Formats: sequence, C-alpha cells, structure tokens
Amino acid sequence: MAIRVYNTMSRTKEEFVPREPGKVAMYVCGPTVYNHIHLGNARTFLSFDVIRRYLMWRGYEVTFVQNITDVDDKIIKRAQEEGRSPAEVAETYTLAFRSAMDALGVLPPTSQPMATQTIPEMVAMVERLVERGHAYVVDGDVYFSVRSYPGYGELSGRDIDELEAGARVEVDERKRDPLDFALWKAAKPGEPHWPSPWGEGRPGWHLECSVMSERELGVPFDIHGGGADLVFPHHENERAQSEAATGTQFVRYWMHGGMLQVDSEKMSKSLGNFLLLKDVLAQHPASVLRMLMLQTHYRSPLDFSDSRLEEASAALERIANAVRNLEWAARSAGGGAGASAEDREALQAAVREARERFVESMDDDFNTAGALAALFELGRACNAFLAEHQSDLGQPDRGVLAEAAATIRELLSVLGIELPAAEDSVEPTADVLVLARDLAGYDGTDADEALRALLAAREAARAERNWEAADTVREALGMLGYSVEDTPSGPRLVRRSRG
Ligand code: AMP
Ligand code: ZN
Repeated sequence: MAIRVYNTMSRTKEEFVPREPGKVAMYVCGPTVYNHIHLGNARTFLSFDVIRRYLMWRGYEVTFVQNITDVDDKIIKRAQEEGRSPAEVAETYTLAFRSAMDALGVLPPTSQPMATQTIPEMVAMVERLVERGHAYVVDGDVYFSVRSYPGYGELSGRDIDELEAGARVEVDERKRDPLDFALWKAAKPGEPHWPSPWGEGRPGWHLECSVMSERELGVPFDIHGGGADLVFPHHENERAQSEAATGTQFVRYWMHGGMLQVDSEKMSKSLGNFLLLKDVLAQHPASVLRMLMLQTHYRSPLDFSDSRLEEASAALERIANAVRNLEWAARSAGGGAGASAEDREALQAAVREARERFVESMDDDFNTAGALAALFELGRACNAFLAEHQSDLGQPDRGVLAEAAATIRELLSVLGIELPAAEDSVEPTADVLVLARDLAGYDGTDADEALRALLAAREAARAERNWEAADTVREALGMLGYSVEDTPSGPRLVRRSRG
C-alpha cells in the first residue's frame, strides 16, 4: 500500500512518490525569531514532525530542512523596543525556539540554515531573476515581477486579475504592478544591511526559503510544508521566484496544516489570543499536548481549550494504564492455567488489526486521529482480556500480553508519544526478603518473587476476611515504598516516588 498525501497544488490526495526511491527531501518554513513561539506555531511544527517520523518509520531516509528567519521587520522593531541589537534578539529566540521544540519532542532538523548566513546566495538568486527579466530595480530595491511568471496564483488557486483588483488600494508608485513583491530592500538608517549590486540592503522574507531549500535539497524537492496561512502570499511567492529562476518545478508535494484556534479564531500574536508553548509545557507534559493535537487531522482546524487538554490527559492516562497493566500481567502471570487458546488468539488478532489500522490511517494523508483510535481500541480489548482472565492468567499468556504492550508503545512512539518506562521492577532488597519470609513464608532470594508472595499473602488473607493480616502486609509494603493498586488483572504493586 502506498502513502497518499494531500497536495495543496492539485487539491487532491496523490500517491506519494519521492523523487528518489527510499529518500525524502522535505522543507518546513521555520519561525521568525522575535519572540517565543505560541501554541499555533507549535501545532504546525508538531504536524510535520509526525509526518517526518512516520516516513522514517516506513523506511525512508528523510532529510528535513527548516530555516530560521533571523532578519526581519519584526526583529528590528523588537530590538529597538528592547534596546538590543537585532542579532542579539534573534539569538535569544533561536535558542528559545530550539529548547521549546526539544521539550515538545520535535526531532531536530537535519539542517537549520539562518537567513543572515545565506546572504550571498540570496543576492545571487536576485541577480539571476533580474537577468532573466523576472525582476527590476528601483532605487536600491528589487521587485519580483509577478506578471513575468505565468503560473502565479496556481498554488493558492487565486486569479491574478482578481488579486490585482483587491490590491489596488495599496498602490505603491515604485512598483510596476501592485502585486509585485520585494526581493531585496534598500537599507534604512539603523537597520542591519549587507552589500549587493544594488547597494546596501537586506533580503525580502520570501526569498530565503527559495534559496535555502534549493541549496540544501536541490529542486524539485519532495515536500514543502507550513501552516495554511503561508499558502498565500508566502508560498505562492516562493514558487514564483524559484520556478522563474530555475526554469524547473520547485516542489513535488505542497502540504499545509490547519490553524490552531481559540473560540474559532486563529491563535496569533496580533490578536493577542495566544499561549506560549513554553508556558503550556511548564504545566503539562509534552505527551499530553501531542495527544491533544494528534487527535485532530493535521489539515483540520483545531480548537484549543483547557477542557480539551484535560480530555487528552485522561486519554493518555487510560492508554498508559492499559500498557502498565499488560506489562505487569506479562511479568507476573504464572499461577493460573492461562486463558483459552481461542481467547489468546483473539487478543493476538486484535494486536495485528490495530497495527494494520494504524498503518492504513497514517498512509491516508497522515490521519493521526484514526491511528490513535486504533490504539485506543486495542487498549480496550486488552483491558477486557485482563478483566476476564484475572484469576486464570498463566505462563502461556505472557507472550501475547507483552506483545500487546510493546505494540502500543512502539506505535505511540511513532507519533512521538513516549510512555514512561516500564515500572514495578524491583530492587532485591534484604527488607523485601525478610518481610516475605515473615509474612508470606517465602524462603527464596528473588525480590520479584518475594513481592509476588507478599501480594498473594494479602489476597489470601482478604479471601479469608482476615482484614488485620491483609492490612499488616499492605502496611509493611507501604514502609518499603510500595502501594497496592487493584487493577482489572488483579492487584499489583506500584513503587511510590520518594520524597
Ligand atoms: P510565523 O513565525 O508566523 O511565520 O509562523 C511559523 C509557523 O507557524 C508557520 O508555518 C505558520 O503557518 C504557523 N502558524 C502560525 N499561526 C498558527 C496557528 N494559529 N495555527 C497553526 N499554525 C500556525
Ligand atoms: Zn518559507
């Protein structure tokens, strides 16, 4: 089965065929580093992180490039407000961006070029465009001539004449056409600037992505990603510049993520309705945030709220619990004869189906919501199995229980959701052995077995309604740092965190 990808360019899902078998070259527009990123930005970066992780898991070698826009009007303004240099502002927020991405579990890009480190290449592309008649110079500014590139508007599905009618309001005498955009801007006093054939100046924003993606990946590359708000004008302009400069296709698949919203309005700095990623991560684990975001398809809008955060946290806890119970049962099942072969096979089949549904969903334009639903269903099947067989679980069940747990762990980690490491493994302490001998008649030296004996002694005492003896065992375990938790697969020990 092939992976299918929704291509903004064709407005359909297409079979994904990379330019080179087994390899994927992808580029995702990075942040403008003038502030901490908000949750909306984080959603887009997370979506493409999951797309990249899935492609890697499917065996592709993925080269992932993301730029940092470290020279821009907003950075200059921020620097003036803070009395710092634009370079200092950019550096502060570049570091903040990297650490926030790391905290969210987003894999670092294969390469992360900076605009200010790519100036000579940008100047070269502008020269190429001027030579080919796609750009013109006015007093140290250079503009791209939109009418010189016949495909303008195709990516965003806009008609150039209609765009023009809309743009007439902001007429700029210097431009030949109101839709033309700046490739190079002459320096204003006090702004950062670099030499060029047209005088000192700085690059326009759209230019850097065209230049860096071509330099790092070559053209056409496979996937170009960003939020849907970048389709026009940013990506339309990137495409026009690149195809006009090279005369060949720029990108094979254009992918765009839906907006994160608050009360049905796009989260944005300018509306003031934003939450910073770092602040949310100070309160909630990254896995909860990932769970929340991945429960919605990456192209759909996503309404963020505290209650959705709580729901995601509960959903994650449910699946983590199922895995904990499975792992505990896989390790401790020993006493009973085991579930019937039929029931065991049914569970085996549920594991297989969950994996198939996960892959089918992800192959279908990275449907993470469907993929998670498959894992939740498997979690429910496992809980039902454990509940039904809690008294007869035995050695023969261990394999399928461990496999179910490992499958859920593996597939969640494809989505970048890492469950806590298997707990309950016990250090062989003399105290445990002494207690097990005194209270459960255990005379071996294996701490795991000793704990199981203690638990069994508690169960036996409870069965005889000898509450006092049962409590004695529970309290003794408590002194050792364990609490007893009743689960569908019977009681198990949980190591309490110290302190
Ligand atoms: P910017 O720094 O504004 O260029 O944004 C960086 C990335 O975040 C771009 O890919 C934007 O499309 C994306 N983005 C901005 N706001 C949102 C939002 N509310 N929801 C999802 N993505 C967003
Ligand atoms: Zn870009």
